[in-house]
Amino acid sequence: MLPFVLALPLIAVAAGLDEKAPVAVAVESTFPTKDDRIRQQAFDGDVDSAYEAARPPREGDVVTLAFDGPVLVRSAEVRGGGLDGGTLEGSEDGATFARLAEFREGVAKAEPGKNLKALRVVPTKDAKDPVAIREFVVDSDPALRRFAYPVEFVVDEVDDASLKGWADKAAKECERAYGLINDALRSDGYRPARVVRMSLKDGVDVPAYAAGDRITGSTKWFRRHPDDIGAMVHESAHVVQRYRGRNNPGWLVEGVADYVRFVLYEPANIGPIDPEKARYDQSYRVTARFLGYIVEKYDPEFVLKLNRAMRERKYSDDLFKESTGKTMQELGDEWKASLKG
Ligand SMILES: [Zn+2]
Repeated sequence: MLPFVLALPLIAVAAGLDEKAPVAVAVESTFPTKDDRIRQQAFDGDVDSAYEAARPPREGDVVTLAFDGPVLVRSAEVRGGGLDGGTLEGSEDGATFARLAEFREGVAKAEPGKNLKALRVVPTKDAKDPVAIREFVVDSDPALRRFAYPVEFVVDEVDDASLKGWADKAAKECERAYGLINDALRSDGYRPARVVRMSLKDGVDVPAYAAGDRITGSTKWFRRHPDDIGAMVHESAHVVQRYRGRNNPGWLVEGVADYVRFVLYEPANIGPIDPEKARYDQSYRVTARFLGYIVEKYDPEFVLKLNRAMRERKYSDDLFKESTGKTMQELGDEWKASLKG
């Protein structure tokens, strides 16, 4: 118990200082996406990359930048193509929208000067060309968090139609978690997948698995465990890792994926551990705890270093000693003793 008692005030202080942390957003659209011109490219800080719709607009089509919470929007500018005559709108409650500006020559700009929860682009319904949005440029307080690792999860096959809504929700949640996953598993020169395909199939004997840029889940599993969206976050971590095999220890590859899932993404769900039976190389969430112990006690960058080495085919057990001065086995014993403490 003691470590938790000591840690709490620190977290409170950090939260206080962190008041102006950027607010997360989602880019939502009624259009299908054209190829790899994915939605999040409309808010990635790069005007050279665009979101492109796969068809011309119809009545009711919108592209929305939805904020997790209200921010004071000083100015908002949207640049793109196929937009002239359309409007830029803002919403104070995230549901009802009011006109802010009209698009002329591919630009709409406004200075709302008030708290908003969303911005949206409404193209004219008789436009001939598909909509392209280069960028939402928003000056706000707090700032909005742009997508450092733009991605789109595309649900392309669901064997059980009653699970389609669940799959869409899981895809959305994985898109949201992708920044966290990639921050945890970043390494110089590595560019993660921008389009990840997700399907739910009958006859899959594990909850889910990843192969390349595709994640396949079991209809049977997710019918029974609809709360297990974290399983898809674990598979998303594998898509970013991309180094299963290559002589990397399997328990460590899984441990890193579950470190991302259970230490960073959903720590409340890691569950109990049996200190008598726990082994550092037990894989999955047990190894995730072991890695968390090393990160906390010895080296905040330990998982980053492991990840980089495994990705670059340079993994060796010596990495443990380099970061901690102790062998893997010594660390395993020490960690196990700490669980009983
Ligand atoms: Zn796995």
